[in-house]
Amino acid sequence: KLFAVAVINIDRFKYINDTFGPAFGDHILKIAAERISGALRKGDMIACLGGDEFGIVFVDIRRSEDTARIFEKIKKDFLEPIRFKDEEIMVELSAGVSFYPNDGKSADELIKNANIGLNKAKKLGGNTIQFYTLEMNKRVSELAQMERLLFKAMKENEFQVHYQPYWDINTKKTVGMEALIRWNSKELGSVPPSRFIPVLEETKMIMDVGAWVLRESCRQVKEWVDKGYKAVPVSVNLSLVQFKQRDLAEMITETLKGSGIEPGLITLEITESALMQDTEFTRNVLNKLKGAGFSISIDDFGTGYSSLSHLKKLPVDNLKIDISFIREIANDPDTASIVTAIIGMAHTMNLRTIAEGVETEEQWKILRLLRCDLAQGFYYSKPVSAGEVEKFLK
Ligand code: C2E
Ligand code: CA
Ligand code: CA
Repeated sequence: KLFAVAVINIDRFKYINDTFGPAFGDHILKIAAERISGALRKGDMIACLGGDEFGIVFVDIRRSEDTARIFEKIKKDFLEPIRFKDEEIMVELSAGVSFYPNDGKSADELIKNANIGLNKAKKLGGNTIQFYTLEMNKRVSELAQMERLLFKAMKENEFQVHYQPYWDINTKKTVGMEALIRWNSKELGSVPPSRFIPVLEETKMIMDVGAWVLRESCRQVKEWVDKGYKAVPVSVNLSLVQFKQRDLAEMITETLKGSGIEPGLITLEITESALMQDTEFTRNVLNKLKGAGFSISIDDFGTGYSSLSHLKKLPVDNLKIDISFIREIANDPDTASIVTAIIGMAHTMNLRTIAEGVETEEQWKILRLLRCDLAQGFYYSKPVSAGEVEKFLK
């Protein structure tokens, strides 16, 4: 497993000690120890390595950038000055980090390399975190920049929703479309969702952005209804982070009420892996949403591990077969058999199947032969702006 070793140092500690006396110095060490350990998660370990140096083992790091996030949290706690008798002082920290196994395999090596990171932090003037490797430092600063820009994007409306129609595999008529977020950043240009959605999730900004996508999609559907088009359902993706939100069903129902459209015109897409996480909880949320009149699709089916007995109890309408299967369907007989089995199983459970990422006529023909119900993909249309997708409604 990946884990990180951090060495944290109090900036200017010698100066503070010399100027305010060792009693103040000791007090600072105590407060620092409290604040740092308070910001750690269950299972992390902290020790005093000597003097004003703390050592931390971050266990269970999912991505190496997580350590930078925890350090930011620690820094926030240090925005509060430390008081002692009549004096008060602002204390800042520097940190160096190394990762097991990439930056070292033994304790000595990991601590040594974390200290190299720490020296870099001191050279930069302190109050910062630095990693042993250059690539890590670059990655973290890019991520920090992306976070900043995403926050700005929310305030300055840099997001857009595009729509990708999906069609009946036999009649080739548009029967619905999927809302897909687009980000055209002033600084970075167009950024694909695969790059920024994980950052939105990590920072929980996905709550606001996801709510916006839903509002915007509802507003768009209302506009189409008002223009006299025969409206088709629009699918909105829900992230696992949103799905875990306590009042998700209420939020969605409220948004819909405000929009003036029927809930039947909104489908919610949730990935298979998200659905299988906490089965009891999942069932409750889905039942609420289904009860409120929404349709539900399982996204990226085939990439997670579904329990069929659990699946059977979920109020789901559509099953979207993951693009990875469709990509192989024309040249790999095993994949074609799996897709056949998925479609058969879905039909037994009264679910409609949607093939994702259909790019060629050949794939479309095979899927039609296998009795897949609907298809979505570049063969029919790429995701396009609301204005462009109107031609399908026409
Ligand atoms: P997804 O939900 O599986 O969406 C389908 C993705 O497949 C879209 O990528 C779409 O552009 C792409 N696609 C459609 N047809 C084809 C095809 O024929 N060939 C290929 N190669 N790709 C095709 P996109 O728009 O880049 O979105 C990527 C992922 O980002 C989505 O995967 C979804 O997980 C997430 N996402 C996008 N918009 C939202 C959103 O509003 N909220 C949330 N939570 N996630 C979103
Ligand atoms: Ca989707
Ligand atoms: Ca998908």
